[in-house]
Parts: sequence; structure tokens; C-alpha cells
Amino acid sequence: MLSTITKIKDKINGLWQMVGNTPMIEVSYRYRDGVEQAIWVKCEHYNLTGSIKDRMALYILQKAYETEAIRPGDTIIEATSGNTGIAFASIGNMLGHPVMIIMPDWMSKERIEIIKSCGAKIHLVSKEQGGFKGSIKIAEMMKQNDSRVFLPRQFENIYNAEAHEKTTGREIGHQLLLEKAKIVPCAFIAGVGTGGTIMGVGKYLRTLYPDIKLHPLEPAESPTLSTKTKNGSHRIQGISDEFIPDILNLESLDKIVQVNDGDAILMAQKLGQELGLAVGISSGANLLGAIKIQQEHKCKEAVITVFPDSNKKYLSTDLVNVEPVKDGYLSPDIKLTGYRPLPKI
Ligand code: PMP
Repeated sequence: MLSTITKIKDKINGLWQMVGNTPMIEVSYRYRDGVEQAIWVKCEHYNLTGSIKDRMALYILQKAYETEAIRPGDTIIEATSGNTGIAFASIGNMLGHPVMIIMPDWMSKERIEIIKSCGAKIHLVSKEQGGFKGSIKIAEMMKQNDSRVFLPRQFENIYNAEAHEKTTGREIGHQLLLEKAKIVPCAFIAGVGTGGTIMGVGKYLRTLYPDIKLHPLEPAESPTLSTKTKNGSHRIQGISDEFIPDILNLESLDKIVQVNDGDAILMAQKLGQELGLAVGISSGANLLGAIKIQQEHKCKEAVITVFPDSNKKYLSTDLVNVEPVKDGYLSPDIKLTGYRPLPKI
């Protein structure tokens, strides 16, 4: 008879059929009526629970079983701004774990309800109780009081970045190599939440393209990476959680790119209106950042980024309202002209 642990490991292997191997598209645009150019985008809203965080959640649990850091039935507790919570709620449930998600109380209602609907418990933390940092402290306290608690600790767990190195980055590399044009990308850019995406994808792409530039992206309204301190609030949910995560090594990366949250909203709306791609606010931010880098560096080669999730969790946010255009915004000067899906690997 198969042991419980072997059965769970088999389930994890099976789940990789529903996580990763996402489509990649070439998005074409014109900036200020210039020539048509393209950005290459990995569409992460195609994962099991609809976000890039499924990769990290599944990989961390796989490694935890391999290293015996978790036992069947342990309660998974994580402090998260949302997508990670949804990923652990769903995957943890499938593997037979109770899941408790601790999150700031200002996150969108959709995220909270989705986590609950996957069977997880939610613990909301107010700004006065410490917001993101307070959530992490509460998770650590719960672990101290209960030996049957497993903490994924996404902000410091090296398997978070490794998940993106071994899956997201590897897939992007293969998808580009499959292109007949033999693309040599000049840059990869990603908004930083935990930093797992930029660090992991960046590490893999550097092995293929040693000169590639790796740009972390942050909201202009909350430039924690640039200023090294917590400051300002912003509307790009999923990035800039008010501190610099342990797994992010800014010294190994290139220039930090800033985008305004309103501009990111306008770009996400444009992706829906002009291409029918209904994606989240950080996807708008990432595409905007990629276009900014391509224009600044005048790079004709590909710039790569990701769409971390779809718009479905933001239907009660400013993403569906009329967003005022402000001075310095780039989106009004960008016309999206189409997209082309690349073959899957
Ligand atoms: N966008 C969204 C919508 C996210 O949920 C996250 C993860 N917090 C990110 C971007 C950033 O990804 P990472 O944590 O890998 O830096």
C-alpha cells in the first residue's frame, strides 16, 4: 500500500499539469506614431488559480515534502497580499491541509472571498495592527504556539525564486528558442512583490543571455525599493508590500523602473479595450515598464515581461472606473496594435 506521503507527492506531480506551461504572446504597439515594436509576455493568468503564484506555492510544498519540513495534515499559514493566499488555499486543500491566510484588511473583497471559497480561513490585519509586517509577525507567533503549523514564508523562502528559475524562466527561454527568428532579448522586467519572479526568471535568462538587463519595477507612489523605506500607498495590488523582501538582491539587478498606479490602470484597461486581454493592474504596470525600457534603451530586440493575473479580482477597484490622465503618463501615447501567441513547449 502506498504511504500517505507518497500519495501526496504523486498529487503534487499531477498538479504540475495545471500549473505552469502557460502561453506566451508577442504584443505589438506603437509609441507616439513611431514604428511598430513588440514586447514578449508570459501569460500567468492561465495557471490553476489564475495567477503566477501557483508556481511558487506548488514548488514550495513539493520541496517541503522532499525535505520533510511539512507533514500530512499540517496547517499551512501564510501572510500574503492575496494571490499567494489563493494559491495555497487551493493547492493546500487539494493536498489535504487546513490553510489559514493572514492579510491586510484593505485588499480587494474578491481576493478575500476567493480564498474563503477554496476552504481556507482568513485572518484580517488592519493598518493599526501593522499591515503586511503585522501579518508576518502573527504568522510567526502561530507557528511558535503550534508545531503542526507549516509556514511557507514566501518573502524569504529561496524556493520561491527557484520555482521561477526552474519553471517560468526555463519556459520563457524555451519559448523564445522555438521562435524561428532566434530572439535575443535585451531585458526582462517584473513588478516586485516578494521578488521571486524577477530573481528566479532573471537567474535563468542570464544563463542563456548573459547581457540581458533585469529590471525590478515599483509603483512611483510607493518607491520602497528606491528609497529603502516604507512610504506612500498605491493601487497596484501584489507589488510593493512596504518593505524590501529578503530574497530580492537589488545589487544583482539593473535599474529600478517606476510606473504610476493610474498609468498602470490605464494600460490594463487598454489591454482589455484594444486587444480583449482582461488582465490585472500589475500586468498593466509590467507592460508599461517594458515599453518604457524599450523606448529608453532604444532596444530593437525583445523586452520580456509577465502578466501575473487577470482582472477578475479587481472588479470592485479603480480598474473598472474612469481613470484620470495625469502629466507624464505614457499610456495615452501608446497604441496597442495586436498580439500573436507563440507555440507552447
Ligand atoms: N502581481 C501580482 C498581481 C501579484 O500577486 C504578485 C505577487 N505578490 C506580483 C505581481 C509580484 O510577484 P513576485 O512576488 O514574484 O515578486
